[in-house]
Amino acid sequence: MPTEPDSTQDDGAHRVDRPGIEECTLNVLKMIGEDSARQGLLDTPKRVARSWEELTQGYGQNLEEIVNGAIFDEAANEVVLVKDIELYSLCEHHLLPFFGKCHVAYIPRGRVIGLSKIPRVVDMYARRLQVQERLTTQIADAVQSILDPFGVAVIIEAQHLCMMMRGVAKQNSVTKTSAMLGSFRSDPKTRAELIGILNS
Ligand code: ZN
Repeated sequence: MPTEPDSTQDDGAHRVDRPGIEECTLNVLKMIGEDSARQGLLDTPKRVARSWEELTQGYGQNLEEIVNGAIFDEAANEVVLVKDIELYSLCEHHLLPFFGKCHVAYIPRGRVIGLSKIPRVVDMYARRLQVQERLTTQIADAVQSILDPFGVAVIIEAQHLCMMMRGVAKQNSVTKTSAMLGSFRSDPKTRAELIGILNS
């Protein structure tokens, strides 16, 4: 599991040890046989440190701050689906990106969430070191805990650079994961309805 945000942070922002990452990056450049003093690489350690800060900023965020009160009483009880949310994350085994689409659906139980908040919840978990399976479950659990809906479904379809660029080099394989809670799990008809909407 990724470590939780450092409790000494007071402004909610995620801070990494930039000088430490710069030093490590410089070492990596040398260890792979590069000339770390050549022009193109001079600022690379600095850029890499800033990049790590951005790519892991999810550690400094929490659900409460992201949702920020955008929950509304609403009698609707039909499936709400936010489809094709762009997703970029980092595989914790290789520190290489995986990316794709995330679909999030829920069936309200008297409450809905501002639609723009769902992609932000996805980002919060995606911007941490992840495995796709855990990312899928965490997003589903988050929606469940925020809204207590009748059901939650999260489906992620992603391509992993650690598989595409190295190892088995399977360029076109897409990994699909899903997490179904409540009526999406217990009721095949509800699940079938979701698959129908997703494919329409
Ligand atoms: Zn990997």
